Amino acid sequence: MGQEVTKKVLCGRLIDPSSQKVIEDGCVVVDETEGIIVDAGTRGSVEAPSDVEEPELPSNATIMPGLIDAHIHITGLRSGDYIKEPLITPYATLVARSIRDLEAVLDAGYTTIVDAGGLISLELKQAEKEGEIRSPRIVAAGYTVSQTFGHGDIHFLPVEYVDARTTKLKTPFSALLCDGPSECRKAARHALRAGADFIKVFTTGGVASQLDRPEYPQFTMDELKAIVEEAHRAHKFVHAHAEGAEGIVNALEAGITRIAHAIYIDEDGINLALEKNAVIIPTLTIVKLIIQHGRELGMPDWAIEKAEEVYETHVNNIRKAYKAGVKLATGTDIFFSPPQLKLYGLNSLEIINLINDIGLTPLEALKAATTHAAYIAE
Ligand SMILES: [Zn+2]
Repeated sequence: MGQEVTKKVLCGRLIDPSSQKVIEDGCVVVDETEGIIVDAGTRGSVEAPSDVEEPELPSNATIMPGLIDAHIHITGLRSGDYIKEPLITPYATLVARSIRDLEAVLDAGYTTIVDAGGLISLELKQAEKEGEIRSPRIVAAGYTVSQTFGHGDIHFLPVEYVDARTTKLKTPFSALLCDGPSECRKAARHALRAGADFIKVFTTGGVASQLDRPEYPQFTMDELKAIVEEAHRAHKFVHAHAEGAEGIVNALEAGITRIAHAIYIDEDGINLALEKNAVIIPTLTIVKLIIQHGRELGMPDWAIEKAEEVYETHVNNIRKAYKAGVKLATGTDIFFSPPQLKLYGLNSLEIINLINDIGLTPLEALKAATTHAAYIAE
């Protein structure tokens, strides 16, 4: 390893969330050829060749790993009206706004985002890799996989506007509607064909969908297993939107180990999450934002009412999961950014919510935003 090491960065404090340690007089050895961190610790404890460059940061400077938002959507939307705005805004305008939003997320210390559904991140990934835009590293689902009358099916639009394989409309939220194991298999393959880094599937209804409810399970086990199998065959993981207790258990039993929202997670769900070594991404930030600002931002009344209804239960259930030892990861579920709030860049709200509402220590919350946000059991 010795020759490739190019820099030994000296700092004041070094935070290592994975070991839950805070180190004074820290030092990080960076292999710039490979773009990786080779060693980190107190200045005397790290190994580096003697002739290496040693830039020294001010003694009050802290180094910590880049943060990860493990559930976000880059859409370019500027209002809470996520139904109408994508239909009447030119797609290129949404992309231009998204580039600014990605910069804001990067400047907030987030070096990786997991886009849990939406075409823009998927399509900007190449620009990010080429260095054409300033952006966190993008891990994107692209097309989402939903049953008909599922959370990804925008119920009040004609079905031909909604299924991304049949519509001519290009919108940032693009669901593939599928029913029965063979259609599900095909939808998963379609998402992979479009370049998905992972498959995003909805196993329950939700807060932001009109006609269903968070408690409704969506997809049968056969359908879920077909989707998971296709993902695993391509060495990809699956990330589930799962709010109701039954849909959470179904997702875990089908082999999905990244569970977002988990509003009604019960004892069975908690035990299964532990057994499968799954990561739960509660996304408290979006529910709070909808409650606090939904009305002024033009969000649909039914979404605001459902958010108000679930928050307390959500917090209580996630506290139980945390106390039982389930891995929690930070995901904000930010999916729009009105000019008066500028939500992209406020991603660390989720770290604060995990500390204040769930009871994590600050170091545990940083672990949720780094080690756990990156953890894939599959
Ligand atoms: Zn989401």
